[in-house]
Amino acid sequence: MSKYLSIVEWVIDNDPHCCGYCKGKGSLSDGVWGHVLSPYDYQDLIDRGWRRSGKYIYKPQMDKTCCPQFTIRCDVENHHFSKSHKATLYYMRKRLNHGQDNMTDSKVKSEIITRMADDPNNSKNIDLEQRKREDLEGSEKARHKRQLRRISKGLPVHKGVLRDPPKLIEQRLEEGLKLTRKNETTFTLTGAKNAMEIELVCIGSERDLETQDESHEVYKKYQVSIHNDDPDDVAKKQWKRFLLDNPFREKGKSGHSSGLKLGLYHCQYRLNDKLIAVGVLDFLSESISSVYFYYDTEYESLNLGTYSALVEIYISRFYRFEWYYMGYYIHSCKKMRYKRNFRPSYLACPKSFEWLPITKSICDLLDKDSHSRLSDENIKDRRSFDLPLNLILNGVGPKVLYMRQVLSWQEYLLLVEKEALEEDDLKIVQRYCSLMGRDLSTAICLYRS
Ligand SMILES: [Zn+2]
Repeated sequence: MSKYLSIVEWVIDNDPHCCGYCKGKGSLSDGVWGHVLSPYDYQDLIDRGWRRSGKYIYKPQMDKTCCPQFTIRCDVENHHFSKSHKATLYYMRKRLNHGQDNMTDSKVKSEIITRMADDPNNSKNIDLEQRKREDLEGSEKARHKRQLRRISKGLPVHKGVLRDPPKLIEQRLEEGLKLTRKNETTFTLTGAKNAMEIELVCIGSERDLETQDESHEVYKKYQVSIHNDDPDDVAKKQWKRFLLDNPFREKGKSGHSSGLKLGLYHCQYRLNDKLIAVGVLDFLSESISSVYFYYDTEYESLNLGTYSALVEIYISRFYRFEWYYMGYYIHSCKKMRYKRNFRPSYLACPKSFEWLPITKSICDLLDKDSHSRLSDENIKDRRSFDLPLNLILNGVGPKVLYMRQVLSWQEYLLLVEKEALEEDDLKIVQRYCSLMGRDLSTAICLYRS
């Protein structure tokens, strides 16, 4: 367990912002600046709906914001494949074994169409309902075929005995390829013609410094071509602030069961030594949390967004993490629905912070009202810390950092004049405690000037 204290500062931001999803002006969130944050505390923060961008940690106002953002995570221990995920791995295998020429193979083309249904960048072209129907029809035909085969062999045709046990992600990822490990954090998948090296680069390491320029080049190309960013907005400084700055201060190995130092990593994908994609990942106490992903758009046909998520699930399992967090899930945003295909996945209820499996009834609930809570009304937040103002004035509150001293709220009130505390300021403390919950309010220091 890391020993250092987490220190955050409240950021006053009451105005709604432009929303990147619905393009309206109704995005509302609360935020703190993470001066220092342990990956253990950050794990607890994301479990309460927070998320970071650089050193800024924010939490959407789930009852007010235009596009409510639910924390979504996948259970990597019990992960199972969708048809399009299998197709993504199949296509990568083809590419590594046969090279680019195989693009003309009609079977490969049909596989690309299959995987497109899950791809957030392509979802606009595909009617998902129609795909679902086709999938069902396809699986029905396959079931019938299997039954005939078993009958011809004189085997029983009972439901449940037809299938072989599903293959694990470890088996599927290296199927038809050779997996070799160069060191603790690098492995290579080699095919007959090409090789893909996947390396976890710890931010702040020598390897990070060595590879920054080529990584930034891939980022620039991606932002300009996929997000239509102005080339002036994707300078190295901005890239660093967005994807390298972080509040973690781990020094050396943490004694965590993964055997790795926790904190921020860039997972670099090299096809025959050329950097083609980067996954930005936080390694936390119980999970790997995906921060961002960018790739060289020349390799768009490899469906790298889905491929990297599958690799990240594989990495989570390899280092014995229980969960893989896929950022936020916005039900009203069709581009995000691909996240539900990583099964089994769960959403955090914005009121109780209980995890609920993504079922049809949860989707129906969100179809009716995207702001609705997910767990039953009677399930309460077990860590709630909703304080009336008079209790705060009487010494119940968060841990604080004041004049370079770590103080309990009660000690802090003895140092400052209670009367000097303005009501607006008290309300911020009240809101902070409510959003953090009891445990985090007393684990993390709130910076007070
Ligand atoms: Zn919106």
